[in-house]
Amino acid sequence: AKQQGGGRFCFHTEAMSAAAAEKLHRHIALENAVQGQGFELYYQPQVDLRSQQVIGVEVLLRWPQPDGSVQLPGAFIPLAEQSKLIVPLGEWVLQQACAQLQRWRTQGQLTWKVSVNVSAQQWMAPDFVRQVKDALQQSGLPPECLVLEVTESQVISRPTVARGVLAALQALAVEVSLDDFGMGYANLSQLALMSFQQLKLDRSLVALMATDRRYETLVRHTISLARELGVSVVGEGVETLQQQELLTRCGCAVGQGFLFGQPAPASAYLAR
Ligand code: C2E
Ligand code: CA
Ligand code: CA
Ligand code: CA
Repeated sequence: AKQQGGGRFCFHTEAMSAAAAEKLHRHIALENAVQGQGFELYYQPQVDLRSQQVIGVEVLLRWPQPDGSVQLPGAFIPLAEQSKLIVPLGEWVLQQACAQLQRWRTQGQLTWKVSVNVSAQQWMAPDFVRQVKDALQQSGLPPECLVLEVTESQVISRPTVARGVLAALQALAVEVSLDDFGMGYANLSQLALMSFQQLKLDRSLVALMATDRRYETLVRHTISLARELGVSVVGEGVETLQQQELLTRCGCAVGQGFLFGQPAPASAYLAR
C-alpha cells in the first residue's frame, strides 16, 4: 500500500512482491503485539557452579502465535530493530522483568538477579537511563539486582555515548554484562576500556573448549584476566557435564545452559 497526500491509501498489492506483502503483514502483527503486549517472558536459570544454586535468571523474549506456536527472538527481533519497535518493546521487557524478580524476592528469592538483553537502539536512546530508573522505581527492585546485557558491537559503534550510559548505570548501581564474549575481535581491549561488571562467554567458546585444548587455554586466561579486572564471568550454553567441569576448572563461577535448565515461563519456577 502506498500512501498518498491527505492520508489516502492506494492499494496495488498485485504489484507488491509476495515478500514485501509478507513483511508488511509481519510488521503490522508486531506493532499490534507491542501495543497489546502480546509477548511473554521466559526465564533461564544461572547457576553457581560450586553450590549448584540458582543465583539469577536471564530474561528471553517469546512471541506466542494464534496457532499456539511460540516465536523465538531470532524470528522477530531483527524486524523490531529495523522498525524501531524495539524501543517500546524493550522498555516493556525491562518493566516486566524487574516486576517479576521483585515478586520472586517477596517470595523469598532474595539472592537472585535478573539479566535483561538490551538492543543497540534502546541503549542509545536518549531516555534509556530514565527507562531503567522508572522500571526500578515502579517495581521496587533494588538496582543491584538488575543486570543489563549488551554486545560488543553496541559499545564499539559509539564508544563515547556507550561510556556515558555505562557511567550513568554504574551510578545507579545497575550492572552491565558484555554478552556473547569471544566472538568478535576487540574483546579483550573492550574489557579494559569499558567498565563492565560481567562478561558472558559465548556458547561457541564453551563448546570449543571441550574439544580443543587451545580454546581451553584461551578461556582460562580470559577468566583470570577478567578476575584481575574485577569482572565476573558467566559461561553460556553449558549443555554437558564435561563443559561444566572444564569451566569450573578454568575458574568460571557461574554457568547457564540446557544442563541447568531451559528457558521457561515464570509460572514454571513455582514448581521448583
Ligand atoms: P543470547 O542473549 O545469547 O541468549 C542466549 C540464547 O541461547 C537464548 O536463545 C537461549 O535460549 C539459548 N540457549 C540457552 N542455553 C543454551 C544451551 O545450552 N544450548 C544452546 N544451543 N542454546 C542455549 P533465544 O531465547 O532464542 O534468544 C536469542 C537471542 O535473542 C538472545 O541471545 C538475545 O540476543 C536476543 N534476545 C532475547 N530476548 C531479548 C530481549 O528481550 N531483548 C533483546 N533486545 N534481545 C533479546
Ligand atoms: Ca544475553
Ligand atoms: Ca549470549
Ligand atoms: Ca546473542
